Amino acid sequence: MFCVRCGREGSTYESLCVECFLENTRFTSISDHVDLLTCYHCREYQIKNRWKRISLDEAIREVAVDAIVVRRGSEIVHSRLEVAEADPRNFHVRMFLDIEHGNLKVKEELHTIVRLKNTVCPRCSKIMGNYYESIIQIRGRERKLSEGQKERIYAALRKRVDEAQDENREMFISKLEEVPGGFDAYLSSISLAKSISKELGDRFGGEVKESSTLVTQKDGKDVYRVTYLVRLPSYLRGEVVSFKGTPHLVISIASNTTKLLNLKTNEPINMPNAELYEVRVIAHKDEILDAVVLSETAKELQIMHPMNFSTIEVRKPQGFKHDGDTVKVIIYEEETYLVPV
Ligand SMILES: [Zn+2]
Ligand SMILES: [Zn+2]
Repeated sequence: MFCVRCGREGSTYESLCVECFLENTRFTSISDHVDLLTCYHCREYQIKNRWKRISLDEAIREVAVDAIVVRRGSEIVHSRLEVAEADPRNFHVRMFLDIEHGNLKVKEELHTIVRLKNTVCPRCSKIMGNYYESIIQIRGRERKLSEGQKERIYAALRKRVDEAQDENREMFISKLEEVPGGFDAYLSSISLAKSISKELGDRFGGEVKESSTLVTQKDGKDVYRVTYLVRLPSYLRGEVVSFKGTPHLVISIASNTTKLLNLKTNEPINMPNAELYEVRVIAHKDEILDAVVLSETAKELQIMHPMNFSTIEVRKPQGFKHDGDTVKVIIYEEETYLVPV
């Protein structure tokens, strides 16, 4: 083989000897200016059509390297970049590149200016447009949710959305609305809303009902919006409910089950939450009263009625213990029940 330019014999690259080839070839190039898109809402940067939560410096380097045009058959094996701010929106990037082309090793330098441009990423424009696919409705059953309950539930919901967003940035809450009896959270994803509503139901002892409405057709397919109604139980820990006609103290509420204490027998039971949807609270915490103990036998307590101060006898359930000279009681259907503390 010989060089078509200088006629020298030997190995050739694209018909040129090594010297002529290197002299006449640029292996890399870059445009004078490279735009770096940043979302002014979430401050993420777009690199190769993906939105990333990285630092400005990292974004400048990534977008600059991505903009390099490399000659076919060549490869950048190492690069070193120097970034210098010209002004807050323009950055000089000088690049020192080690390139391999076949068995040739070449060094080249490039320069570009990375320009920062503000935009709104598709996710944020959806959020700002209140885009949603699903609603989680949180409701109390008989009474309104307390502010504390609302806050705890919202914090749990928010945490799960944030975790999902770390995996997939398209997971978000676009709207939160206070409504009588609870709140509505508008979510970008049906599957996320489904799993979160189930978790909230489990954790707070509520039932979940799903309903969907056809909103439109897109490319011949039906598009649904799905609503998950999470109805929280009417009872809280430490309250007394009427279950099968007998007062029961709510000991604890776990995912799926609630532990109750039968105030007649002093026996604890675990009930599936699903079977307690209809129970009624008969004494909130502040309705569990103190009664003075007047005397005590093995089976009975003589106490002073907390409302009318008459002396009454109450049978002690198996294993009932109390400290001090008062006990907690509730009065239900004219009967007095001891409430262990
Ligand atoms: Zn030559
Ligand atoms: Zn954004």
